[in-house]
Amino acid sequence: MRNQPAGLYIHIPFCFSRCPYCGFYSQTDLDLIPSFVSALKQEMSMIAPFPPAFDTLYLGGGTPSLLEPDVIAEIIEASYRYFPLSAKAEITIEANPGTVTPVYLKEIIAVGINRISIGIQSFEDTTLRFLGRMHSAAEAIASIRDAREAGFENIGIDLMYGLPGQSAKDWITELKTAVSRRPEHIACYMLTFEPRTLFDEWKNKGKIKAAEDETVSLLFETTIDFLEKSGYNYYEISNFAKTGHYESRHNRKYWSHAPYIGLGPSAHSFMEPVRSWNHSSLKKYLKDVRKGRRPVAGNETLTDNALILEATYLGLRTAKGISINDINQRFGMDFGARFAPILKALSKEGVISLTPERCVLTRKGRLFCDGIAARLSG
Ligand code: SF4
Repeated sequence: MRNQPAGLYIHIPFCFSRCPYCGFYSQTDLDLIPSFVSALKQEMSMIAPFPPAFDTLYLGGGTPSLLEPDVIAEIIEASYRYFPLSAKAEITIEANPGTVTPVYLKEIIAVGINRISIGIQSFEDTTLRFLGRMHSAAEAIASIRDAREAGFENIGIDLMYGLPGQSAKDWITELKTAVSRRPEHIACYMLTFEPRTLFDEWKNKGKIKAAEDETVSLLFETTIDFLEKSGYNYYEISNFAKTGHYESRHNRKYWSHAPYIGLGPSAHSFMEPVRSWNHSSLKKYLKDVRKGRRPVAGNETLTDNALILEATYLGLRTAKGISINDINQRFGMDFGARFAPILKALSKEGVISLTPERCVLTRKGRLFCDGIAARLSG
């Protein structure tokens, strides 16, 4: 897996406004876009050595769709100039409804974007308001339609569930609308209360309440049932695709420990066994790059044990599970022997399915992925 082509991630750190639940780094001074783009190109010129081949480019954020098509073209062109990016690369942009027009969508296809991931979150106006989103339900629907009409053949949408007071019925209504729009990919994320967000503060002050565990489990099961019946394959805890072809090639790299390079503020890079991350501050990022320094805030060298723990956790998150052969070869270990007692216990509890080739979470096990991974690595 480590020999597979690398991914290039570019973090575009700009949003119109900050959503109260969001833990990703971004800021709202759009006047800084030109300085950022020029620093980004300089950062690209400083990266070496890098893996021999890249087959994905992912513009995430933030709200990359705030960038004009000619700026996106400039970034894609620079990516090709500085990195051995395949001509057949999957090139994704994250976009928010309300920031994209039919003309804009056509223009970004023309400059090389071939996959769009739309941050819908909800098709209900009241929910969108609660989430502090800038767009309406009508704009959410229009963005999918416009992306299709513009020529996108690979459309992904993101939805959020586990919202305070949300029932399974409410969530099914959202899912029904989602599948009726026929995106190729649907990602469903459970609302989490990220530290230092407004939602977290409200939760701590008792202004909002996290959904009960039982409700979260019900909504999670509902998601899998509904989407699988609607022709979407579960391939990762939060991700569903119409066919394997539409699984996010870029995100699969994160789950398989493939190498990736992240550029822009807060972006992470991984080239086994080293992970590094950039400053989560545009100011510090610009300062470092202007001084000719890579804007790296920190790095860690993962020990074999840490890598095994991560590989176990990441593998379990996927529908294919852990490849026992791969993990044995990679770490010179006997997975089955090393974890024999715990594997036996987990099988007995019905949360994993174990064959000589693979260790996969069962349907029941998917609800307890984090806890199972922790037990396996303990
Ligand atoms: S959720 Fe998206 S649009 Fe909202 S603040 Fe975070 S990155 Fe920006």
